[in-house]
Amino acid sequence: MNLRPKPVRGALLLAAVACLGWGLSLESPASRTAARAWVFTPAWEPGAGLPGEPPAVPRVTPVAPEPLPPCLEPVRTQVIRPRTREWKSIIVHHSAGIRGNAEEIGRLHREERGWDGLGYHFVIGNGNGAPLGGVEVGYRWLDQSHGAHAGTEEHNQFGIGICVVGNYEEAEFPEEAYVSLRELTSWLARRYAISPDRILPHSAVRPDPTACPGRNFPLERLRRDVEEDLRK
Ligand SMILES: [Zn+2]
Repeated sequence: MNLRPKPVRGALLLAAVACLGWGLSLESPASRTAARAWVFTPAWEPGAGLPGEPPAVPRVTPVAPEPLPPCLEPVRTQVIRPRTREWKSIIVHHSAGIRGNAEEIGRLHREERGWDGLGYHFVIGNGNGAPLGGVEVGYRWLDQSHGAHAGTEEHNQFGIGICVVGNYEEAEFPEEAYVSLRELTSWLARRYAISPDRILPHSAVRPDPTACPGRNFPLERLRRDVEEDLRK
């Protein structure tokens, strides 16, 4: 399935502009609950870091703006990604609820966990609260900032967090969500040279036991399919 026509909910909402002396334009922290785009920097310099974050550390490589997966093309023209991280793994989650989207999950993370906002980098909808198979881009991806999803420092710093809405301990994994997950994961794996065996369920990295992303998450199928995609 081609993801291109799917809406990227919220990502096209432009942030309120605040000139912070960095030459960057950012929305206010209060709105950091969801996927969003920001408007740009005429004056950013590699290694300068971002407002609200510590300066870039050596492990974070300053490079030219990052591309987005082709399926997220609508966001491209509105986003500047000033640097990338050395992503090393892809961590798959489920939301464990029956409905949701990046905005709702982000609000929950902010209000109940005290995080800045959405802990994941991407959210894939299950048709209940967001389009089935639709991919939402979180601000952490646009910022190339660490996640708040894994439960370990390493995987929060260098693991890309993808949450599929739904509870896959109970429900079957929707094929439409799988197709989107495969396309996104394959793109990320190719772009960041992440081997398929570094596609991990949350349960494999979190120190405390968790069922996330559920027994019906098709890990081995995803690894095989990504491996196949990488050979193309
Ligand atoms: Zn999880």
